[in-house]
Formats: sequence, C-alpha cells, structure tokens
Amino acid sequence: MDHPMNALAEKLQQVFRNVRGYGKLTEANTAEALREVRMALLAADVNYQVAKRFCDRVKEQTLGQEVQQSIRPGDLFVKIIHDELIALFQSGGTALDPARPLRIALCGLNGAGKTTSAAKLALHLKDRRERPFLVAADLARPAAAAQLATLAAQAGVPAFLPAPGVSLTDHLAAASEAARGASASVILYDLAGRTEVNDALLEELSAALEAIRPQECLLVADAALGQAAVGVAQAFHARARLTGLILSKFDGDARGGAAFSLQDVTGCPIKFLGTGEKIADFEPFQPERLVQRLLGMGDLYGLAQKVQESIDLEDTARLEEKLKKQSFDLQDFQDQMRMVKKLGPLQNVLGMIPGMGSVSNSAIDERGLKRTEAILGSMTPQERRQPDLISARRRQRIALGSGTSVTEVNQLLHRFRAMKKMMGKLTRGGRPEEQLKKMLRGRAF
Ligand code: GDP
Ligand code: MG
Repeated sequence: MDHPMNALAEKLQQVFRNVRGYGKLTEANTAEALREVRMALLAADVNYQVAKRFCDRVKEQTLGQEVQQSIRPGDLFVKIIHDELIALFQSGGTALDPARPLRIALCGLNGAGKTTSAAKLALHLKDRRERPFLVAADLARPAAAAQLATLAAQAGVPAFLPAPGVSLTDHLAAASEAARGASASVILYDLAGRTEVNDALLEELSAALEAIRPQECLLVADAALGQAAVGVAQAFHARARLTGLILSKFDGDARGGAAFSLQDVTGCPIKFLGTGEKIADFEPFQPERLVQRLLGMGDLYGLAQKVQESIDLEDTARLEEKLKKQSFDLQDFQDQMRMVKKLGPLQNVLGMIPGMGSVSNSAIDERGLKRTEAILGSMTPQERRQPDLISARRRQRIALGSGTSVTEVNQLLHRFRAMKKMMGKLTRGGRPEEQLKKMLRGRAF
C-alpha cells in the first residue's frame, strides 16, 4: 500500500538533490530551496502556519551556521532539515505513562476511529503482557457499545458496557469497580464523540474526565482530515489536557500532513498510528522511522548522521590548528579531554583512529584521567589560559581543591609541557599516529 508520506518524501528528496549541488548556500538559493520545501509540505496538506514556522526555523539555523570547511553546504542543509524534523516529531516522547493501573481516555469526533483504536490499543497492550480492560463510555449510542463489544471479543480483552438508562457517573463508577475485580493493569475508556466540536461534546468530555481522572488522555484524529484536524485538536486540547495523539487511518488516502500539523499545534506527541481497518493494524509511532522515510533510508538520512560527525571532527581540527600555532593552553587541554569523554570509553575512541587500534590497554589510564580532570577543574579559567601563572602557592590551592597532592599537580603541568612540545613536533612531518602512540605510551596525559 502507498504510504501517506511517499509523495512528500519524493518531493523533499528532489529538493535535497538540487541543494546538494549548490557550491554555496546564499540567502537567495536558501530561500529558493525553502520555498520548494514549503510547497512540498503544503501539497502534503501540512497547515500553512505550521509549514511556514518549520521553514523559518530551518532558515534561521542555516544562516546561523558557521561555515565548516569539510562539509558541503547542501549537505548541511539536509542535516538541519533532519534535525528539525526529529525535534518536531519527538516532542514529548511517545511512551505511555508508567503508572498502574493506567487509565487511558480516548476522545475525538465521531468516525475518527476511537472505538477501533481502543480495541487496537488493548490488543497491543495485551501483547505486551498488560491486562487491558475496555470501557464503553458512549451512552448516547447503543450501537457504539455493541461495536466495542465485538472488537473487544476479537482482541480477547474484557469490555464493560453500560446498563440501560444508567447515568455517566454511575456507569464510570461501576466500570472502575469491575476493572479492579478483573485486576486490570490498563483501563481504556472509549468516550462519546460528536459529529463536530460543540459545547455539548466538550461539557460531556469534561465531566467524564473529571470522573475518570486519566493519566493519559489521547485524542484520536483522522489523518485523512488533514488541515481540518488541526482546529479539532486545538478545541480538544483547550478543554482536555491531552497527553498524546493517536493518528488513525494513516493508510489509504491520507497525505501525511496531519502528522506535522497536529504535533506542532498541540505540542502533544503522536503516540500511535492506526494503519488499517483490522485490529492488528496499529503501531507505536517512531519519529526516527518517519524521518528516515522522508529523507530516504540509508541515503540522505545516513548523510545527516555523517554531517554531524564532520562537525565534531571540525572541532578537533580547530584544536590542531591551535597546536600548530603553539597557542595550546590548559583550557584547550581541558576542552579536549571533555571532547574525548563525550566520544565514549577511551579504548573505543583510540580504536577509531587509523593505526591506533593496537594500542594496548595499559597505555590508557582512566583513573589518571579522572585525577587530571579534577586538577584542571580546580584551576581558574585564567590559570588554564596562562599556565605560567601557576605559582607554588596556587599549586597548593589547586591540589587541595582537587583532592590531589602538589606533586600530582606538578606532574600534570610537567606532562602538559611535554605534550605541548611533542605536539609541536607533530606538525613538522612524521606520521601523526606513530607520534600519538609514542605520546600515549609516555602517558603524556
Ligand atoms: P469512532 O466513531 O471514533 O469510534 O470511530 P470508529 O472506531 O467507529 O471508526 C470509524 C471508521 O473508521 C470505521 O469504519 C473503522 O473501520 C475505520 N477506521 C478506524 N481506524 C482506521 C484505520 O487506522 N485505518 C482505516 N483504513 N480505517 C480505520
Ligand atoms: Mg465509537
């Protein structure tokens, strides 16, 4: 079946192919590319304001980026779009509240897919070793309860139906009792909808939510509604503190735009997607997967990852430049240590440097690294910038502050000078990895 995001993905990828050919990102060609991105979003039925805001954020980022020599400007553009998409779709996290028993209220307009989604979610939870319990809470339409009962039977999950003539509060109280009796871990409430958002709907919704006090209040929205879904979501969100969205009918005719708009307008995460009429057609929403689809698997998506790596490498290159100029100081030393720490265990990092994979464990002294960090942390920024300032008295203070000894502080300063000298030599030819190896054996840091 055609995925709702396919058309948008195709258009975006066309824009990216063009942009990657640009030698430079100027205001003019960035504006042109962004215009095409916006057109693609609008064609996918993304709300106009949402598309505009999205493009504005990308523009701001693009113009604000420092020029990185190793990265092609067009690639950086793709990376920024990637990051913005992830930020948009990941707002809030997609996991359900961990509280048990977990009460989930499902609200939305008639025909949005509430009853179907309730049964789908119950089945999904049952497969994850929960004990779901369905409650039909639409008292106005007897057919709604019957529909839930049928779907619940398909899912093999108990359903609690309203007794004839019962009031909503009495029904909810009875449901609560029954759920306890069944030792339910998750109670799903299929609430009443209306054909449109009106006061009667919102009042009944408020009353139901007050009685249920759900930890999760999920709006079921019809993906095929596109822009119209935005107004609906806003109205619901204003009345019922929504905790997430279920986007139903994310198959067939939907153009995918609702996924963007709803998320942006409500600030609520999409938690699940309904992808067909059968109760198994349901999946947790995975932002990464959707962005991968939009950018093209292993192609532009992989590129965005690589650009991030290059940005990190560029920072390293800047440090190297400082070394060459002999302006390397203890502050840079500290920065470098932090960078190495960010990269993960030292052994892994060294393994990534060509020719360094064989450095033995003994060359890496993680405890020593911690001491070094503490000593550097106890220096003032000025001392790190001008190590010559560090007098005997200051050494004493630094040792005390870092829980080390003056001897250890002296050793560090000594090693730093040795390292700086050696780094200076590095730039005068020779194979860098050999020099680095030697330096590590000598425990330069
Ligand atoms: P409710 O009025 O909000 O409870 O909506 P229903 O659950 O009764 O669903 C309305 C219609 O939409 C039914 O015919 C469902 O089979 C259909 N439906 C619900 N979810 C999906 C979905 O994810 N994909 C498709 N194709 N149809 C769906
Ligand atoms: Mg229903």
